[in-house]
Amino acid sequence: MATIVMKFGGTSMAGIERIRHVASRVRREVEAGHRVAVVVSAMAGETDRLVGFCREASPLADPAEYDVVVSSGEQVTSGLLAIALGAAGVPARSFLGWQLPVRTSAAHGLARIEEIGTGDLVAALDAGQVAVIPGFQGVTADGRVSTLGRGGSDTSAVAVAAALGAERCDIYTDVEGVFTTDPRIVPRARKLAKITYEEMLELASVGAKVLQTRSVELAMKERVRLAVKSSFSEEPGTLVVDEDEIVEQELIAGVAYDRNEAKVTIVAVPDRPGAVATIFGALADANINVDMIVQNIAHDTAVTDVTFTVPRTELVRARAVLEAAKDAIGFERLIADEKVVKVSVVGVGMKSHAGVAVTMFRALAERGINIQAITTSEIKISVLIAEEYLELAVRVLHTAYGLDAAA
Ligand code: ADP
Ligand code: ASP
Ligand code: MG
Repeated sequence: MATIVMKFGGTSMAGIERIRHVASRVRREVEAGHRVAVVVSAMAGETDRLVGFCREASPLADPAEYDVVVSSGEQVTSGLLAIALGAAGVPARSFLGWQLPVRTSAAHGLARIEEIGTGDLVAALDAGQVAVIPGFQGVTADGRVSTLGRGGSDTSAVAVAAALGAERCDIYTDVEGVFTTDPRIVPRARKLAKITYEEMLELASVGAKVLQTRSVELAMKERVRLAVKSSFSEEPGTLVVDEDEIVEQELIAGVAYDRNEAKVTIVAVPDRPGAVATIFGALADANINVDMIVQNIAHDTAVTDVTFTVPRTELVRARAVLEAAKDAIGFERLIADEKVVKVSVVGVGMKSHAGVAVTMFRALAERGINIQAITTSEIKISVLIAEEYLELAVRVLHTAYGLDAAA
């Protein structure tokens, strides 16, 4: 008797009809003789709505109370799915984050799962019940409700799978698997039958939101067998696997984009040791992540410009922090640009092939797309470009690396 975890995303849970459909898919696995734990997201759009309420109530809402509000969407869908399963003749019950418990760090809004209590969960599965668990939520050591960051239900599912030693963790979403790029932007994107953990991790971290980055990280570490499938079709989906399980490795696995980027240029920073440390020290103290960094060496003057990106959602804070540190840093002025996006290509084949970056730069140049910043890792190249070119850039790169599906 295999234990499996099934996770259903927001589109799959949007409305009672769809929840009934989810219940029928769960029932099929139960009838196949499996012990099933289900992790659910809030209905599509619901978390955004709840975040909006918090912002409206106060732009600086108490993070612990923010979590109480935004975690509620999953409470609703977990109860509704348990009801729908019961109505379909499948014994089921819900377990909220604090009930299991899903213990997390105290970093409200971006908490990390530390441990999951499985006693009651295993007892329910042993008794032949389906356990329905709201994703995205947990509880801190001092008993406050926490949430795991946007898209966090994927991580909840993987963590439950790891805690139960489940055979599989199937992530059901609104596309048929992991594609060579977002199929909503490039209709000729191809579904990948398999992708390595390493590539999936990198793709997720540069914006492919089909899986939350932490879920892939955790699956890799805990050796969870992860699959991405559609809630709405019977197609096989994508398996996330080790590198040696892929027979013919492609050069590039995929192209991803991230709209949550803002570019900051600090003009006329003194060109002396410690200047950059002061800038990024101030941002780090405020817990603001910096991604791409470009700094020129000053030639004829004693000052230089420093350009970097921060999450767009953090730009207001970043600006405030830097303005407050203006005297300590000693810069002239700060220019911010929110109309930028990051486009990345990812592939383990890059480790052993030259010329991958040039293909990217040429393809963009041919379309007159200017590159404003570049970062690379062993298996990734990212460029920052003007937002208006996003779709064109993704399509052009998809073609340039030979990823288009046959017409
Ligand atoms: P869910 O609510 O099921 O968690 P998400 O919206 O979080 O769904 O993630 C699924 C979405 O991810 C798809 O609708 C698709 O637009 C987007 N996406 C981005 N990149 C990719 C990719 N490489 N492959 C598949 N989907 C992708
Ligand atoms: N509902 C949460 C969100 O929208 C978590 C999730 O869906 O994974 O971010
Ligand atoms: Mg998601």
